[in-house]
Amino acid sequence: MNIVLFGPPGAGKGTQAKNLVNKLNSFQISTGDILRDEIKKDSDVGKRIINYMNEGKFVDDEIVNKIIKNIIYDPNKKNKLIFDGYPRTIEQAKNLDIWLNDTNQKINYIFFLNVNKETIIKRIEKRKILEKRSDDDLNTIVKRYDKYMDTTKPVLDYYSDKSNFKEIDGSLEIDQITSKISSILKV
Ligand code: AMP
Repeated sequence: MNIVLFGPPGAGKGTQAKNLVNKLNSFQISTGDILRDEIKKDSDVGKRIINYMNEGKFVDDEIVNKIIKNIIYDPNKKNKLIFDGYPRTIEQAKNLDIWLNDTNQKINYIFFLNVNKETIIKRIEKRKILEKRSDDDLNTIVKRYDKYMDTTKPVLDYYSDKSNFKEIDGSLEIDQITSKISSILKV
């Protein structure tokens, strides 16, 4: 089963992705984590993206797509993909469809964790203290939220009328969100 978790930064995608990975024996594909790793490794990609990441801007599709394509075409991960933070642009959504189709896969469910800006700001401030993420100062948070909502609107429109699109109230407690997702997936 392949799942897309969609929603602004701080909506709980990562937490739900980890739950699903355990339940479904799948792989969490967090583009944010993968990109942060590149920066930590100080790789060529890391050097190219550090400024974008720190400013809360999207990294070039060219870089992100290459990472994602390798994962989709990995036979060990076939039908075990939990996307967390991808796709974020309409081009990424279209590419995802093409690559999945090409490898005889599909998106089984898209979960939109819908949560308002005030809740996000409170949550990210808490996470900032726990995880010491350098891109999490308040200005960046607001920029990331606004940018996500603006830029991903076409992606939301692209998915929202599909029958496998499920909107979930992302302001609920983690356990409540988990059980809503579980009951839809019947796991
Ligand atoms: P996240 O951890 O998902 O909030 O992502 C952190 C940052 O990584 C974002 O603010 C972007 O700079 C970058 N990023 C993550 N996923 C993508 C993506 N699909 N496309 C472009 N940039 C991304």
